[in-house]
Amino acid sequence: MSKTAIITGGSRGIGKAMSEKLGELGYNVVINYRSDSSKALSEKIASEISAKYKVETLVVRADVSKYADCEQLVDAAVKKFGDNIDVLVNNAGITNNSNWIDITHEAYESVIATNLMSALHMTHLVLPHMINHSSKDSQCVIVNTSSVGGMTGVINQADYCASKSGLIGLTRALALEFAGRGVRVNAIAPGMIMTDMLRGVNQDELKALAGTIPEGFIGDVSDIAGALGYILTAPYVTGQVISPNGGFVLQ
Ligand code: NDP
Repeated sequence: MSKTAIITGGSRGIGKAMSEKLGELGYNVVINYRSDSSKALSEKIASEISAKYKVETLVVRADVSKYADCEQLVDAAVKKFGDNIDVLVNNAGITNNSNWIDITHEAYESVIATNLMSALHMTHLVLPHMINHSSKDSQCVIVNTSSVGGMTGVINQADYCASKSGLIGLTRALALEFAGRGVRVNAIAPGMIMTDMLRGVNQDELKALAGTIPEGFIGDVSDIAGALGYILTAPYVTGQVISPNGGFVLQ
């Protein structure tokens, strides 16, 4: 029987690579995006995945920082693929780069809503469509995209680090709550990965930061898609934070 995966923020960067991995593993993929400018991009990725891996895809615009939009996203997935959802990847994320004096409350509320509240909303809405069919032999999996920032601190990213630490707490608590009921919950905490998110920051600062990575280079989206592939095929792994980071948090 075919299986269904939902990924938030699947239009670009890490989310795009993870959408492709889901297709490669044989899931029907529901790709979420938010910006009008990403509609065509998301539709292109979806049709490429369908053609290459012979799975079905659905593209849904939703701002996952809002509960009502999350409801629409899950409803659309259930309407197209049925009441059983097998995988949820909470990947949508944004960042600010501001000191804690000058930042506005609107800016940090937006980061918390997009990065953390979205995962609370989506897990709340999707879990009923998982526990209705999950079992030891037919596991469902939730994967939250955290960050090394959630494991360490990053200057001028207090809101981002708080959101990403929150995702790790959510991961561990839900892993315990649903252990033995066929639902595994894990997090991926990427180090520095070259995407639009990094292209948007000061490139001199980025270069200096990249020099502090023990492996000596910035990672690729395939490093994170590979971690997703591992988690999805590792039945004994739950409540874990897998962190492809070039040794970044060892120092
Ligand atoms: P990008 O900026 O390249 O992509 C962000 C994605 O999130 C886009 O698909 C975007 O959609 C989507 N998104 C943002 N806000 C919303 C929203 N409210 N509702 C729905 N979708 C939304 O970022 P990355 O690929 O780099 O990051 C992906 C994840 O990985 C994020 O959670 C990020 O925090 C995390 N991460 C990234 C690291 C890096 O070095 N790149 C390091 C550690 C963690 P749209 O295209 O419509 O804007």
